Amino acid sequence: DAKALHVYLEESANLYGEKKALYFMGKEMSFSEVSTQAKIMANYFQQLGIKKGDRVAIMLPNCPQAVISYYGALMAGAIVVQTNPLYTERELEYQLNDSGATFIVCLDILVPRVKNVKEETPLKHMIVTGIKDYLPFPKNLIYPFIQKKQYNIVVKVEHGGDTHVWTAILEKTTPNYQQVDVDPIEDLALLQYTGGTTGFPKGVMLTHYNLVSNCQMSDAWLYKTKQGEEVVLGVLPFFHVYGMTTVMNLSIMSGQKMILMPKFDAGDVLKVIHKQKPTLFPGAPTIYVGLLNHPDIKKYDLSSIEACISGSAPLPVEVQEQFEKVTGGRLVEGYGLTESSPVTHANFVWEKRINGSIGIPWPDTDAKILDMETFEEAEQGEVGEVAVKGPQIMRGYWNNQEETDKVLRDGWLLTGDLGYMDENGYFYIVDRKKDMIIAGGYNIYPREVEEVLYEHEGVLEVAVAGIPDAYRGETVKAYVVAKNGYTLSEEVLNTFCRKHLASYKVPRLYEFRDELPKTAVGKILRRQLVEGDKEKQL
Ligand code: ATP
Repeated sequence: DAKALHVYLEESANLYGEKKALYFMGKEMSFSEVSTQAKIMANYFQQLGIKKGDRVAIMLPNCPQAVISYYGALMAGAIVVQTNPLYTERELEYQLNDSGATFIVCLDILVPRVKNVKEETPLKHMIVTGIKDYLPFPKNLIYPFIQKKQYNIVVKVEHGGDTHVWTAILEKTTPNYQQVDVDPIEDLALLQYTGGTTGFPKGVMLTHYNLVSNCQMSDAWLYKTKQGEEVVLGVLPFFHVYGMTTVMNLSIMSGQKMILMPKFDAGDVLKVIHKQKPTLFPGAPTIYVGLLNHPDIKKYDLSSIEACISGSAPLPVEVQEQFEKVTGGRLVEGYGLTESSPVTHANFVWEKRINGSIGIPWPDTDAKILDMETFEEAEQGEVGEVAVKGPQIMRGYWNNQEETDKVLRDGWLLTGDLGYMDENGYFYIVDRKKDMIIAGGYNIYPREVEEVLYEHEGVLEVAVAGIPDAYRGETVKAYVVAKNGYTLSEEVLNTFCRKHLASYKVPRLYEFRDELPKTAVGKILRRQLVEGDKEKQL
């Protein structure tokens, strides 16, 4: 009984009607308002001649338009291409050409960037919207993707030709769009480009069924007691698969309210939790760390939070324990990747969970560990590559059979992550296959070294990576951000590491920084740090 993803918005509009679907900076919208506006957008796309399977790029931060245009494009039978608003012109041009997107929905301040690449891409139509379309422009709103000097720029956009203004569309268009025959199992809903932590972004093909099944698994796993009454905090961006599934799609499907935050600012998030009382909070380790280190955290009431799931990177145990202490809720670790819509594993929220483990495979999901050399199933407890299988696994990479064949084998997805399984079926991620350091013939997992450094009281953030070394092949380097008020030195950290690690794992090089580069979901970009070092050497 599979259904297309957008059908769930129409069902929720019928079931919940005037109930609030979203909250955005003081403005609320009901399920029927969101559904009606999505239908208007679907109708407008159709008036512009959109055909089933055409690609619509959406380049927006979290805001009502991100939800409405996504569902509107799906209703019109299109495939959504999520585009990071932080993309440079080069990255945008690559993605538009690779996906073949002919439509883009973007924020007004991004228009110059889109216009500069338009002629070099298949793009035909630009639908432009501003945050102020739903709000009086908030004075202090600074987008993370524009330079400070740019934030006063007013972009004037005229409705006409290849440019279509959101507010004009809403005024002039009816919701009477033509229903499109979508096969949920066969038809793609989304091209989601991989984060690019390990190379050129690839377009992950996800069907309606992939996305719907991942939401259904989440519902089954969480077995909430207050069905429909949960309030979900949407700090994770929807242009990334993690926020898109666990906040946006899940809320639309299960009739719960979501709070949209266009950027992560620890102070704003604390205020919003205090006032809006979210109960669920999917996030990433750096997000929870950012909140815990805010000087005013004690001034806010965070007790509404009942359940948090942390994914995208390893969750340090201290962070988990401290966050549970300040909120009184539960914070558990999960795991997934773009290629699996994304979630495949998580710990139980209310029952037995194991700190340091990513938990067990989600309902309907199989997982195993493969021997790194033979690709046969490894012995229990042995480290190998994690492989997963289930209805959430992608169809492949867009126009890239060669890369698809490397990772999809007999329905199993090879994740590129190394891990092991214990005697109770709990999985543990050791590290990324590609990030393993080989120094002087020894295998070193950066994560193990990072965990030791995180135990030092003065360390706020750390990334460990392998740096090319003429003698040892690679050598271990740590990039460290100190907590406010701490001065750290190489000597101090070296002594600390020597106490807790075998000598071949101890970093030989340290670099102290004010911050570390991160992806949209706050994952530290180890590779970017290493690339920067290589460039310096040249
Ligand atoms: P690219 O695939 O281009 O390198 P990316 O790694 O950022 O980019 P994502 O699909 O966003 O792409 O991230 C998936 C990866 O995140 C996983 O393969 C895994 O390495 C890491 N990850 C996710 N959850 C966890 C976790 N709980 N612990 C450790 N690593 C995790």
